[in-house]
Amino acid sequence: MSDKPHPLISFAKSRGFIYPSSEIYGGLSAIYDYGHYGILLKKNIEAAWWKAMVQERDDVFGLDSAIFMHPKTWIASGHVDGFDDPQVDCRQCKSRFRADHLLENYGYTDDQTDKAPLDYLNAQLDALRHDKKLTCPNCGSRDLTSAKRFSLMVKSNIGSPTDDLKEENVVYLRPETCGGIYLEYKNVVDSLHPSLPFGIAQVGKAFRNEIIARQFIFRTREFEQMEMQYFLKSEQMKEKYEQWKKDRFAWYLEYGISKTKLRWYKHAKLVFYASAAYDIEYNFSVLGNFKEVEGIHARGDHDLTQHSKFSGADLRYFDQATGQKFLPHIMETSVGLNRLMLMFLDNAFTTEKLEDGSERTVLKLDKRLAPIKAAVFPLLRNKPELVDKAKQIAAMLRKEMMIEYDDHGNIGKRYRRQDEIGTPYCITVDFDGLKDETVTVRSRDSMKQERVAISRLLEYMAGGERRGTPKKN
Ligand code: ATP
Repeated sequence: MSDKPHPLISFAKSRGFIYPSSEIYGGLSAIYDYGHYGILLKKNIEAAWWKAMVQERDDVFGLDSAIFMHPKTWIASGHVDGFDDPQVDCRQCKSRFRADHLLENYGYTDDQTDKAPLDYLNAQLDALRHDKKLTCPNCGSRDLTSAKRFSLMVKSNIGSPTDDLKEENVVYLRPETCGGIYLEYKNVVDSLHPSLPFGIAQVGKAFRNEIIARQFIFRTREFEQMEMQYFLKSEQMKEKYEQWKKDRFAWYLEYGISKTKLRWYKHAKLVFYASAAYDIEYNFSVLGNFKEVEGIHARGDHDLTQHSKFSGADLRYFDQATGQKFLPHIMETSVGLNRLMLMFLDNAFTTEKLEDGSERTVLKLDKRLAPIKAAVFPLLRNKPELVDKAKQIAAMLRKEMMIEYDDHGNIGKRYRRQDEIGTPYCITVDFDGLKDETVTVRSRDSMKQERVAISRLLEYMAGGERRGTPKKN
C-alpha cells in the first residue's frame, strides 16, 4: 500500500461498512469491525459462496465446528511447530515486517521468498544491508533486525487453570477452519454415509498472530474463512482438481469480477505431501498489486494420516463396492470472507463523471451482493399521502429483502446516497402513482427510470436480480 491511504478505506468507514476496532481506546492493530452495510455485504458474499458450494451440489455437506479444539489437533497438523512467519523489526520506529514481504520491495518474487528457509532470507537481507539499500519502509531507518521465526498461533486458556503448561495442554484459537473438518470427517461418514468423492464445507472465524504492515482487511488477526475439503480416491484427484479450479474461477466471473483483474498463481514449491497448489489472485487497486484471494490445494492423505496417528482413531473409509478400507486423499478450496469482501468493494468502487459535469461515487456490486436491495422515497416529505404510500410499500418489500426508506434532502441527493452503498433500485412515490398504483423505479447503473405497477415491483426487481449486473470493465 502506498503512503497515502486509498479513498476506499475512508469511504468504507464513513459509509458504515468497516470500522477500525476499539477505536475509542486507540484501536487494536489489524482487527476490524463491520458496520450495518458491511455485515450485510459480508453475509451476502457468504450466502453466494454457500449456494455454490453446498446448496447447488449434492456431494458437499455443511459443518459448523467449534473454534476451540483439542490441543493435539495443532500438534498433529504441524501448526504448533511450524506455523510461523519470518519477522523483521525496525529498531527505530518499532514497525514489524515479514522478511519475505520486505524482500518483495527489492524485486524478489513470491517464488523466491515464499516459505524460504530463514538462512536464505537473512542472506538476501544481509546483501541488501551491505549495499546500504535495506531501509525500513515506514521510517527509512537502516536499523533493521535479522529475520527470526514468529509463531502465528494465538494461545488461549479455557477450563480450570493448570500449572501444567506443557505443549500438549495449550489451547489455541484455530488458525484455519479446515482442522474442524478433518476431526468431524468420521462423524460425517458415520452419520450421512456419503460415497466418495464428497466434500465438507464450513464458514467460521480463524485467528492468526499476523505480522502486519498496513493491509486494511486484506490481512487481519481475526478473520473468517470459507473452506471446503473434498475427500476422494487418489486416482480421482487429477480430474476433480481441474474441475474445482474451473468452478471456483467461474464463481468470481459470475459475481462480476472482471477476468482482467484475476489470474492464477502456481506454487512452484510444494510441501512434501501436496501434488498441486494454485491460488486465484485479484489485482487489488487498494493494495496496488495482484494478491491471493483463494487457495486450491491437492493435499494427498497427509491430514487424515496425521490425525489417525495422533488420535489413534481409524479414519479409513470403507468402500462397499470393493470391500477395501483406505484413507481418502483431500483437495481443498480455501478463501477468506473478509478478503473477498475487500475484493468485491475494490472491484465495485467507481467514480463516474456525469453528463452535467458532476461526479458520482457508485458501488457497482452484483445485485445479489448489494447490502440494500431497494430504497423507497416519497417525492416530497411534507405530503402525508406520499409519505404513507411510500412507507406502506417499504413495509411490504421489507418482508422479502433489505429495504431503506428515505425522505431526507432532494431526490438527487437520495439517489447519490444509495449509489454510494450500491443499492440497485430506487423507488419513488409521486402524485401520478397515487392515482394508478404505480411508482418510478430508477436503476443504479443505467440511471434510467421506468414506471412500474406496485403489484409488479417484486417481479421487476427479481427479474433484474436474475439478470445480474452488467459490468463495464
Ligand atoms: P498469505 O500468504 O496471504 O498469508 P496463506 O497462504 O497463509 O495466505 P492460507 O493459509 O492458504 O493463506 O489461507 C487461505 C485463505 O484464507 C487465503 O487465501 C485468504 O483468503 C484467507 N486468509 C488467510 N490469512 C488471512 C488473514 N490473516 N486475514 C484475512 N484472510 C486471510
